[in-house]
Amino acid sequence: MRVVLATKNAGKIAEIKAILDLPGVVWLTYEDQPEWPEVIENGSTFLANATIKAKTLADHFNLPALADDSGLEVEALDGRPGIHSARFAGPDAVDADNVAKLLFELRDAPEGNRGAQFASVVVLAMPGGRTVSATGACPGNITTAARGEGGFGYDPVFMPLGYEKTMAELTAAEKNSLSHRGRALRRLRPALEAEIK
Ligand code: IMP
Repeated sequence: MRVVLATKNAGKIAEIKAILDLPGVVWLTYEDQPEWPEVIENGSTFLANATIKAKTLADHFNLPALADDSGLEVEALDGRPGIHSARFAGPDAVDADNVAKLLFELRDAPEGNRGAQFASVVVLAMPGGRTVSATGACPGNITTAARGEGGFGYDPVFMPLGYEKTMAELTAAEKNSLSHRGRALRRLRPALEAEIK
């Protein structure tokens, strides 16, 4: 069974494949498709944007499509960057720019006021329009400096609750076992298996 991965984020693609590890599923990604539709992510919630991505790709390829919309919600910033996490530092921002902006915005936040969570909403869209979704969150704290080489995005400055390492210092398997994306995808898994069997 072919399922489209409705993302161009290489970090997400690797994690989704590893977390779901579904024998019998052939993942279709933008890397093996010359023609990939433009997706206008203009929703105002993770659920709305994940649904837009999954439905656009499911309609385009006439195949089931799986999307993740996710981001970092920082308490001291009233939940920002949230749905704007990928472009926090501007439309062309790369991960390092976003991390630098986050550390700058929190420069005066003391250790006890650096709480945050990663949030993920995953949506499976079937051709014809039906969707099923699941959510996952991972609580933690923002460090004062970047540490570690693993993962992507804000991983080098996010320390999951109960850990002394940042997400970027964990192995991929450790990250997937506790991450927002891991939690959301494990909740979606039964519905996914039922849809694609
Ligand atoms: P999206 O592709 O619009 O869902 O944007 C997701 C953005 O949220 C990413 O570009 C990262 O900045 C951030 N993000 C989401 N998940 C993670 C993660 O697992 N680690 C670090 N950053 C993440």
